Amino acid sequence: MPEIPDLEAIRAFLNERIVGVEITGAQTPIPYIFRTPAKDVAAGLIGNRFGEVLRRGKFLLFTMADEHVLVINPMLTGRFQYVAPDTKKRAKTCLALALANGQELRYADDRLMGKIYYVHVEDVLSIPQFAEMGPDALEVSEEEFRQRIRKHPGAIKNILTNHTFIAGIGNAYADEILFEARINPFRKRTTLSDAEIGALYRAIGTTLRRSMPILRAHFRDELDYEEWRDHLKVHRKGGDGKDKQEGRCPRCGTHITEIAPNQRITSYCRTCQR
Ligand SMILES: [Zn+2]
Repeated sequence: MPEIPDLEAIRAFLNERIVGVEITGAQTPIPYIFRTPAKDVAAGLIGNRFGEVLRRGKFLLFTMADEHVLVINPMLTGRFQYVAPDTKKRAKTCLALALANGQELRYADDRLMGKIYYVHVEDVLSIPQFAEMGPDALEVSEEEFRQRIRKHPGAIKNILTNHTFIAGIGNAYADEILFEARINPFRKRTTLSDAEIGALYRAIGTTLRRSMPILRAHFRDELDYEEWRDHLKVHRKGGDGKDKQEGRCPRCGTHITEIAPNQRITSYCRTCQR
């Protein structure tokens, strides 16, 4: 699932290339994932120009010169491509935009769980999930973080990935943030001390900001986004334990614990995450 560091890297890449560029063609081969009728989206985009690409939580917002916004929530498997038109299309390409600069911007989605909207800027809050989203995880202040977390008594990992609490953190980076903060993902929030809440808040900024330039370095001239997770420290790093180094906590060497309650893989170090 694309999370804040992934989407920020994609956004930075596109903002260097598409701002002010005209859209000359729009194909919508899989209308199913459009929440605004696909033909209306295509009609609105053709002849329009891109403004800045923005992000809120796990949504990318492609602003347009005429005050409309193409809003994409890639959910689990949404992938962006910015390539020459003769580059092979990915399976399940849902949207392909021909640009006046000779490139194509595409969106593909293996499991078709993503959602695409096209609205006037004033109607962005009418998008389901948008209005209920908490503050962005990169923008929330420590004071607001402490206020908001009091309303959530459950397991801390579930709280971090709850977009009504703060937006933009998914399963992978939640594991990384909790590792950075040395907190066990199954701890109840009610058992966390003030100092631990502070450590958790700082770990969000540290972990997300550290990953952004690493991801950004993967995109040179083309964007053909796969999930890059090599740089993560614990999430899905459990390994099979055959190799002495593989699957070990980078801090203390304990074998990383990996379990999947509710089909969601959670990885953590049982020694240094208390
Ligand atoms: Zn450890």
